Amino acid sequence: MTALAPRSDFPLLARNPELHYLDSAATAQKPAVVLEAIRAFYENDYANPHRGAYALSARATDAYHGARSRIARFVGQPDADCLIFTRGTTESLNMVAAAWGRSHVAGGDEIVVTGLEHHANFVPWQQLARERGASFRIAQVSPEGEIDLEHLLSLIRDRTRVVAFAHVSNALGSITPVAELARQIRSRSDALIVCDGAQAVPHLPVNFDALGVDCYAFSGHKLGGPMGIGALVARRGVLEAMEPYQTGGDMIEFVHDEYSTWNVLPHKLEAGTPNAAGAVGLAAAVEYLHAFGMDRIRAHEQALTAGASARIAALDGARVFGPDPSRRSGVISFALAGIHPHDLATILDDAGICIRAGHHCTQPLMRRLGVAATARASFWVYNDDSDIDALLAALERARTLFGYAGV
Ligand code: PMP
Repeated sequence: MTALAPRSDFPLLARNPELHYLDSAATAQKPAVVLEAIRAFYENDYANPHRGAYALSARATDAYHGARSRIARFVGQPDADCLIFTRGTTESLNMVAAAWGRSHVAGGDEIVVTGLEHHANFVPWQQLARERGASFRIAQVSPEGEIDLEHLLSLIRDRTRVVAFAHVSNALGSITPVAELARQIRSRSDALIVCDGAQAVPHLPVNFDALGVDCYAFSGHKLGGPMGIGALVARRGVLEAMEPYQTGGDMIEFVHDEYSTWNVLPHKLEAGTPNAAGAVGLAAAVEYLHAFGMDRIRAHEQALTAGASARIAALDGARVFGPDPSRRSGVISFALAGIHPHDLATILDDAGICIRAGHHCTQPLMRRLGVAATARASFWVYNDDSDIDALLAALERARTLFGYAGV
């Protein structure tokens, strides 16, 4: 399997030809076009958007909102003002929990999440439930490592106000059938449906409109954009019903001595000077991915994942977590008997292989799997068979080092 994108597109990979970067689920390397777009913004169009009555500020404003439209189109939200820029998935989900949750969830209400969630889509809801005196229900994870959809639906009651779940699990790669699940939830409840798309937008075609959820969160840095930018995409009615998340500059209409009124969307939910350079960089990343086509990216990752999963699973003492590779994104979560995932990651690092080891910010899931940690290799557009060959050779070496005797 050759790479979909040449390494030469990615300055860090081009400068480190021996590096096998298998941690794109944590963050993705940056294509040169993204770095160039950020530089061009600073060199040509840089000023504070919305503030100045001069041409340069107008250019900065155009660049910022142009980026919003481009990114909104990429994720299937035709109403670009309903894409709110945030620092990333974590902030997007906290925004919904705080700005929508505090005014819509009361004592005795119920919130449903799943045992598969990243802490970013678990803790804000847990804290909201504690603050409001609501019940916090956790849908089970199936033995294969997918959300148990029947169980999730069985938790929905009259007073369920929020149902939150991941599109793709960062720890296992399991893909949730979001559109079908959202349809089933809607037929039972008018709860707010919140989807964590952090691991989906970089890897699968995502169309917010077709998914039928109310809120969808993602991070720019996982799809080749810079750190510190991401988005909350939501239905207009939901965003209109939100109280401001933060108050200050840009988000007001009038400030009276005693009270203030709020600006229209998206400004109401974007207080302060925006991360315009981040937005421009993220728009360049989206353009870069669009040129490949998300279907092709999905197919590329699926082929790599299927091949590598089979080879890892064939090692004595190996355990691969999660469902069949056809139902996973480009993630392989695994363990080798007798070797702690952290030791494994250190040994692999000596061979220039970057993998992630730990609980992957999914402690509830680790408890359900009965493990403290896993090793996780994850793929993206620049990975190819040479990365997998290097990974397998290093895993064999690790087994020899740890004297694996086939116990
Ligand atoms: N949800 C999932 C599924 C993730 O993988 C991550 C990042 N690991 C997050 C949420 C949080 O994203 P960020 O740290 O970019 O806010």
